Amino acid sequence: MIKNANIHFNHQGTPVANDFDDIYYSDDNGLAESYYVFYQQNNIDTRLQSHDQAHFVIAETGFGTGLNFLNTCQHFTDHLARQQVQKQLDYGVKRLHFIAFEKHPLSISDLSKILKVWPELNLLSEQLISQYPINLAGCHRLEFNNGTIVLDLYFGDALESIKTMSYPRSGIVDAWFLDGFAPSKNPDMWQQSLFDTMVNISKIGATLATFTAAGFVRRGLTDAGFTMQKVKGFAHKRSMLIGTLKHTNDTQSAPSYFNHDVSPLTNVAVIGGGIASSCILYSLAKRGISSQLFCQDAAPAMGASHNVQGAVYPHLQAKNSPHSELFAHSFLYAKRLYKQLLNDGFSFDHSWCGVLQHAVKQPLTDRHENLAQQQLWPQTLMRNVTAEQGDTIAGVTTGYSGVYFEQGGWVNPPQLVNAMLSAAHCLSPYESTFNCHIEQLEKTSNGWLLFSNGKQFGPFSDVIICAGEHSDAFAQTKVLPIVGVRGQVSHVQSSEQSTKLKTVLCHKGYFTPAYLDHHCMGATFEKNTKSRQVTEQDNLSNREQLLNFYGHCNFATSLGNITAAKAAVRCSFIDHLPMAGEWVEQSDYLTAFANLRLGKRYQYQALSKKQQGLHIFTGFGARALCSAPLCSEHLISSLNNEPRPLSERVSQAIHPARFIVRDLIRNKI
Ligand code: SAM
Repeated sequence: MIKNANIHFNHQGTPVANDFDDIYYSDDNGLAESYYVFYQQNNIDTRLQSHDQAHFVIAETGFGTGLNFLNTCQHFTDHLARQQVQKQLDYGVKRLHFIAFEKHPLSISDLSKILKVWPELNLLSEQLISQYPINLAGCHRLEFNNGTIVLDLYFGDALESIKTMSYPRSGIVDAWFLDGFAPSKNPDMWQQSLFDTMVNISKIGATLATFTAAGFVRRGLTDAGFTMQKVKGFAHKRSMLIGTLKHTNDTQSAPSYFNHDVSPLTNVAVIGGGIASSCILYSLAKRGISSQLFCQDAAPAMGASHNVQGAVYPHLQAKNSPHSELFAHSFLYAKRLYKQLLNDGFSFDHSWCGVLQHAVKQPLTDRHENLAQQQLWPQTLMRNVTAEQGDTIAGVTTGYSGVYFEQGGWVNPPQLVNAMLSAAHCLSPYESTFNCHIEQLEKTSNGWLLFSNGKQFGPFSDVIICAGEHSDAFAQTKVLPIVGVRGQVSHVQSSEQSTKLKTVLCHKGYFTPAYLDHHCMGATFEKNTKSRQVTEQDNLSNREQLLNFYGHCNFATSLGNITAAKAAVRCSFIDHLPMAGEWVEQSDYLTAFANLRLGKRYQYQALSKKQQGLHIFTGFGARALCSAPLCSEHLISSLNNEPRPLSERVSQAIHPARFIVRDLIRNKI
């Protein structure tokens, strides 16, 4: 569990950490010190103009008050403004990526108090405070100024956090700010293993700057591979250290069979029309990457994303599994994104009314008790409630205990998809082609061609298939082991009693608060059928299922007629996790990684990638509202050689090669 910092303010008004007995920034002038020590001594301004990529990555050990981050953002914003004025839009950095590690985050009230001292940073600090994460360990991706600044804020020990990260062999960090309290007061932040691990994620030529000039820090960083130099310190301080990395240590987080390689992403074809593809288009647009949408339906969100009310909450287990980690962080990211869209003026019907999962059967009661005992999740994410507490939250009497997700709620998925598509279009206009059933994909020396009804589109540098249950419709992807699950949701007229319901209820299915005089009730669950046909039988089953659990409750017995219903086939995989990454060809894997059959200790051959540039992004089941936005960021960040928001273990859990690797290890293929 992450614990907040205990602080007080000294006579100069500077915040001091009680546990370390050290100040967060200089008593003299924190902002000027931050600029001199970290920004100037890493030579950031000059590098922003001549960098070889459109994004620049800074990593900081010790996020603290965020002063270094906000100050850097301010200077980066000035850099972007200068670019505009000087019309130098063809080169130079366009996006700032800041990674920060923080073991004891300040509470939001302390942070707000501290940042008030710097009115010049108000525009940015307000964005930080409004998105500041809850106390959950791991990577929280926050975005500022329309996504031109990304903050990956890791809550947890710096060394342990870096070890969890997913990163390529070439590294990801261009510059380091080492700011973890004085070495004498916090030796953990200045240990050799941290310096060595920093090198794992650093690019060749990465620089560092730190306020300390301690000899053992200098020697430790030299041993790790940095060429170190002492320079004049800030104000009255005699010296500080800077360094440059001459050689990387050639490590990457993943074994080669779980690589995420970079891709050109010069123009991208996106196939689909639901939540998954709208997330991908939005991630591409934020980066100014040109794209084109192909959808077989007449409008967006006519497949599995077409329900009137979709519940948004994380699927958490009583263990710290990759599954739970994915859903917890995805949920928090999705909430930030949806709120941002609303703040930006894009509208979709929604209510952050919370989601209450009822223990309607003994196994669920046991599961909920287990969840409570493990104490893995912050209460603000999920908390156990007694029947009495649950009924007060829900506004209806049920007698069930349960778990409550106070930040959850519902959104109207088609409206949300349209809002995301519009937001993406505003950031970077793209072409949309509806009523276009892509039948064939062909890789040529110029790129990928798409074929539909005798027409040819392309070439594209990359194709991302987000076609849900239809993702296996191409010659290349026909072996995709999709599990299609048909679900029908019924729309039932509300009653005086049922309109008292204040939160989404989950039992075996779900039941939403009244919206347009109706509730959504469902869903059915039927494997091995691809029919989107609404059936009367499924409407009956939905009502029967609700009455099965709530037959003793007047909100359920007083409901009116079922006036409409929607049915769709949700695409998932056998392990209930989505799939995001470059398409992997089984035959390529069988050759390159044949030795996996002998165990994991043997050499592999180079992978010949016949389908380079073809990517798969699907399998979100009924949980795309929660998990698609962050998975989309992970996929596009990986392909674009940026820091990735998901940890290595989660990255492997959603990797397209996972089933092939599993079968090779088990000697089944
Ligand atoms: N850069 C910060 C700013 O702009 O406000 C000030 C950083 S303050 C000097 C040092 C920070 O390092 C504190 O917030 C502290 O909680 C954090 N810290 C200490 N030990 C840590 C560890 N092992 N891993 C991650 N963060 C740590």
